Amino acid sequence: MGDYVLIPKPGSKINLKDYDPDYHGNEDKSSAQKEIQVLQDEMQEFQERLYAEGKQSLLIVLQAMDTGGKDGAIKKVFEGINPQGVHVAAFKAPTPEELAHDFLWRVHQHIPQKGHIGIFNRSHYEDVLVVRVNNLVPESVWKHRYEHINHFERLIADSGTRILKFYLHISKDEQKKRLQARLDTPEKNWKFSSGDLPVRQQWNDYMKAYESVLERCNTEYAPWYIIPANAKWYRDLVITRAIVAALKDMRPAYPPPEPDLDKIVIPD
Ligand code: ATP
Ligand code: MG
Repeated sequence: MGDYVLIPKPGSKINLKDYDPDYHGNEDKSSAQKEIQVLQDEMQEFQERLYAEGKQSLLIVLQAMDTGGKDGAIKKVFEGINPQGVHVAAFKAPTPEELAHDFLWRVHQHIPQKGHIGIFNRSHYEDVLVVRVNNLVPESVWKHRYEHINHFERLIADSGTRILKFYLHISKDEQKKRLQARLDTPEKNWKFSSGDLPVRQQWNDYMKAYESVLERCNTEYAPWYIIPANAKWYRDLVITRAIVAALKDMRPAYPPPEPDLDKIVIPD
C-alpha cells in the first residue's frame, strides 16, 4: 500500500476497502512504545501551555465500530496527562430530553472551553451513523445533517477550537477476535454486550455510512484521520503523533509574567 494516507483529500471518494486495518508501515511495537513516551512528555508540556494561555482549545473526536479501541486509545494516549484541563464526554443513545432538542444541542455544551482538551467518545457523528443505518429518523432528516455538522464544526473552529477526528478502522475479523476475548476472559466479561452482535451484522451498512461521513465531513478546519487500528500500538502511535503535531502547530504560549517580578520580595 506504500504511502498510507491518513487524512484523505477533502471531497475525495472513500472506499474503506482501500484502507488496510492491519497497516503499520515500517514501524515496530517496541520503538513505537518508546516514541509514544517521548511524545507524551511533549504533549504534557503543550497541555500546560494551552491551559496557562487560556485562549484556544483542542477537540478530539473518536469514532469506531464496537471493540474498535476508543477506550483503549483514550487510556493509552493520555497517560500521564494532567486531568485538570482534560474532559472526556461519552455519547450514548440520547435521553428523551436530548431527543426533544436538535441533535447538536447535547454536543455543544461539551465543546472544550479555552485552555482545555476535550475528548469525544462517540459524538454527533452517531446521528449520521447508527441513526442512518437503523432509520431512526427518515432520510429526509439525516441527509441534511452532514451540512449541519460542517457548519457547526466551522463555528467551533472559528471560535478557537482545533478539531481532530479519528476513525479507528478495524476489520470485521479483528472485531470477532476482540468479542471472543470478551467472552473468554473473566476480567473482560463485563465489556461483552450481546447488543453488539446485531450491530456486527450490519457491518457493511456501517462501512457505507462511515464512507459518507469521511467523504462529506472531512474539511480543512476539521479533518478526519483514518487510523489503521487492528494493531493497538500503531493506533496509539499515530493518534499521539497527530495530537502532538496539532498542539505544536497551535503554538500555545505562557502568558507574559507580571512586570518587575525580579524586584518582588516575598514578605516573611
Ligand atoms: P463500549 O465500546 O465500551 O461498549 P460504547 O461507546 O459502545 O462503549 P455503549 O453504552 O455500549 O458504549 O453504547 C452506546 C450506544 O449509544 C451505541 O450503540 C451508540 O450507537 C448509541 N448512540 C450514541 N449516540 C446515539 C444517537 N445519537 N442516536 C442513537 N444511538 C446513539
Ligand atoms: Mg458498546
